Amino acid sequence: MNPQDSSKIVVLGGGESGVGAALLAQAKGFDVFLSDKGVLSDEYRGILHAHNIPFEEGKHTETIILSAKEVIKSPGIPDQVPLIKQLYEQGTPVISEIEFASRYTKAKTIAITGSNGKTTTTLLTYHLLKSAGVNVGLAGNIGESFAKQVINDTFDWFVLEISSFQLDNMYGFKADVAILLNITPDHLDRYEYTFQKYVDSKFRLLQNLQPTDDFIYFVDNKPIAFELAKKSFKVNHLPISFLKKGKNGGFFKAESLHLTRNTRTFDLDANELPIKGPHNAINAMAAILASMAVGLSDEQIKNGLMTFQNAAHRLEPVAQINKINFVNDSKATNVDSVFYALSSFNTPIIWIAGGLDKGNDYTPIEPLVRQKVKALICLGKDNSKLLSFFASIVPVVIETQDVTEAVRHALSLGQPNDIALLSPACASFDLFKNYEDRGEQFKAAVRSFIS
Ligand code: ADP
Repeated sequence: MNPQDSSKIVVLGGGESGVGAALLAQAKGFDVFLSDKGVLSDEYRGILHAHNIPFEEGKHTETIILSAKEVIKSPGIPDQVPLIKQLYEQGTPVISEIEFASRYTKAKTIAITGSNGKTTTTLLTYHLLKSAGVNVGLAGNIGESFAKQVINDTFDWFVLEISSFQLDNMYGFKADVAILLNITPDHLDRYEYTFQKYVDSKFRLLQNLQPTDDFIYFVDNKPIAFELAKKSFKVNHLPISFLKKGKNGGFFKAESLHLTRNTRTFDLDANELPIKGPHNAINAMAAILASMAVGLSDEQIKNGLMTFQNAAHRLEPVAQINKINFVNDSKATNVDSVFYALSSFNTPIIWIAGGLDKGNDYTPIEPLVRQKVKALICLGKDNSKLLSFFASIVPVVIETQDVTEAVRHALSLGQPNDIALLSPACASFDLFKNYEDRGEQFKAAVRSFIS
């Protein structure tokens, strides 16, 4: 057995969250060591050198790692890795960067998770607070690590985007406002292909909430409703629904949003929202309820909404050519987000989809595709799954591996008012570096046709 060093913290993974955790651990007086099996970026290597933080790359030295008092694991490292299993077996606490950082902040937190919509809701919530003058930071899966930002701990609030991988290693973290947007099958490879395990991971967000803490969630999402029916949580419930208006929470009907938090109400027209589509109405209701929890006035919320700009690649309008509207939704890497993309338009859609399949079941979008999609352009190395599902459903189906060709096809098939929508339902790594690269290439291809 390895004697465990009482002050030694090992950080596994040297990306933004790992390097941030190492900096925080050092600032708090721990003896810290960072280990990454891959290659560090020049930037992160430079930071570690500059702070004299010992590290290794291209390997994991087990004797050092197994003797740590606590290990901070980056979210990209699966539990199935033998070294991680060994740590669990010998009882070494393995925590996430968010868990570690949360020990060192006095700030209140709004923690946002869900299979889809995290980034949009996080950015919108942050924007509403920031534009209202709240002293607020943004962290989690986005921007600078939470750990790095709590070294000086200058904020009153943090808006945190939290993935299930972060939640898996969170134990003591407690949010003041927790948002759960939806749970749909994703990342099942990390959860032994068991959906319930992924659901359990998302519900870890609630594990330490107190009765006065707000829990904002989309109750029409079946897995969420099912889980809440199984177990009661003593928190301030703020459900969001399209179907039922509750005493508390958000309700969307006839293009109006009705929000109630305890004794306060706030109503808004959907056309006052800066982000479009039913899914974004959910995201906006969640962000507004969170802003109400922080204490923003109606006017502050309305003003903030007017100036919000969403991140790229999420139903991003690109250009209109021959009156055909091109939309970049490259971030739609699963079927649920395509469901909402297709739901967001009322004119015929030329749908550009495909890429690396993550075990997709297209059944939930079949009715929408039948109703709205006039042509499918498959943009992937292997399109067999899309072809076999949709060839008999969509009037025109075309295959290509070239993004410019895809745009050319869309132009030749399109009529005025049609939408040419890149919403792939798949990962991008077969033909592109990542979803951003796919979206950028798509936008450049569209613009190359503007005369
Ligand atoms: P995440 O950070 O969870 O991946 P994003 O805000 O980046 O979420 O959006 C990812 C994709 O999901 C985009 O295609 C977007 O249009 C779609 N989307 C956004 N919000 C929702 C939602 N509430 N439900 C389903 N899909 C959504």
